[in-house]
Amino acid sequence: MRTFSKSKLMALRQCPKRLWLEVHRSDLREDSSSTEAIFQTGHQVGKLAQRIYDPLGVGALIDIKAEGMRGAFERTTTLLKTAHPIFEAGFSASGALAFADVMLPEQKDGQRVWRMVEIKSSTSVKDYHRDDVAVQAFVAQSAGVALQSIALAHIDSSWTYPGEGDYRGLLRENDFTAEAFSRTEEVKAWIAKAQLVSASKAEPAIEIGAHCDTPYACGFYDYCSRNEPKPEYPVYWLPYIGAKAATLAEQGVIDLKNVPDDLLNARQQRVKAHTLANTVFFDAVGAAADLAVYSLPAYFLDFETIQFAVPIWKGTRPYQQNTFQFSLHTLSASGRLDHMEFLDLSGNDPSEPFAQALIAACGGQGPVFVYNAGFETARMGELAIRYPHLSAALLAINARVVDLLPIARERYYHPNQKGSWSIKKVLPAVVPELRYDALDGVQDGGMAMEAFLESIHPDTSAERKSQIEQQLLAYCKLDTYAMVRLWQVFAGRTDLKL
Ligand code: SF4
Repeated sequence: MRTFSKSKLMALRQCPKRLWLEVHRSDLREDSSSTEAIFQTGHQVGKLAQRIYDPLGVGALIDIKAEGMRGAFERTTTLLKTAHPIFEAGFSASGALAFADVMLPEQKDGQRVWRMVEIKSSTSVKDYHRDDVAVQAFVAQSAGVALQSIALAHIDSSWTYPGEGDYRGLLRENDFTAEAFSRTEEVKAWIAKAQLVSASKAEPAIEIGAHCDTPYACGFYDYCSRNEPKPEYPVYWLPYIGAKAATLAEQGVIDLKNVPDDLLNARQQRVKAHTLANTVFFDAVGAAADLAVYSLPAYFLDFETIQFAVPIWKGTRPYQQNTFQFSLHTLSASGRLDHMEFLDLSGNDPSEPFAQALIAACGGQGPVFVYNAGFETARMGELAIRYPHLSAALLAINARVVDLLPIARERYYHPNQKGSWSIKKVLPAVVPELRYDALDGVQDGGMAMEAFLESIHPDTSAERKSQIEQQLLAYCKLDTYAMVRLWQVFAGRTDLKL
């Protein structure tokens, strides 16, 4: 008889084949960087929860790495006889084992009972969390713990950090006692099924499908999909194909050359036709007409932002997009191109100096071109709320914003875009000599976030910080220079030397 960890049982809930592979071929698993990031964030929030639930620091933390599995279970048994909070308490019983994020002692009828809290870094309760707490409750109760209640605490994204290390209010609790306690038989059935699945010599015959991404992207996807036919022109290149792609796949249609035209809208038909013919679509007259209404001077603007599950700056919320950098190219009426930029790597809240520098840089009139405007306008709207004294100026910039993305989408398509109008795809198609992959270090928004975090870390050397600064400046500058060159091609202004 095997003993299954909670994560193995959750793997079974996602897909029996995943559990089998976890048990027999864990070497095949390749977790994506986003999955790794979720684990890291969870760890960070878990550490903070220890401070929140144990402000006096009298609790005990079980360190499974240092103490080993058996040591962790034994010390948990000892600590359950005390009246202090326990973090990462370990239990094993009835074929399963689990570690509880938080165990809090309480008194009931003169007896010590325990309240368990599971900590999640998400901003709401997900369906799979319910299975998670059901397993936790089952294992703890089976191990003989006097479990009085169980709750799930997730991040409250509406909470604002008041500063001074005061994180009370970051987590919002949801009581799951009645539900979790009522699912004992279900959990027993999962454990029994896990025994059967893992005892099988043969890998379960389960096809890839929607379950491979729900609730997590499965790390065995590359392995499971290794023999799947690889379409030359995948259906998902069709813009906004959405659920229709799944319907087509069920009918065996995975290549867009086999998708009937009458199922497609005009833009999808255009993508299909130009992809198959390997030709460029460019409605130069239409693009020039779209842009002719905006006269020079013109501004070309892009932001970089950073998010924290646990806010580090007073007045900010969990997962808020904090602006730390902008690049702005300005094209004068005479055709002169200038560049301004802002980047704050001090580690202090960059928001207000960012907003002030932006207002100073954007002038008072002229279109402000951005690519995919919703992101920048949302950030300026948030800054306007946060800094009322800057609100009018920020909203005035917002009112001048013109989005280049809809023009690109409607007027241009190159087969190399593979169905995407992200500026990273459009730029090398329209202006082949400009490439993001030629940049040193930072080449996309995710890398910019990682670079920012590294640069503000106290252990980062001045030399490395300087290198990151140059990489961030070069990356963001390319974003706005890319817009300038797209504007030039779309506006038909090849007379300008840009
Ligand atoms: S990739 Fe899909 S089919 Fe394969 S183990 Fe994971 S969930 Fe199951």
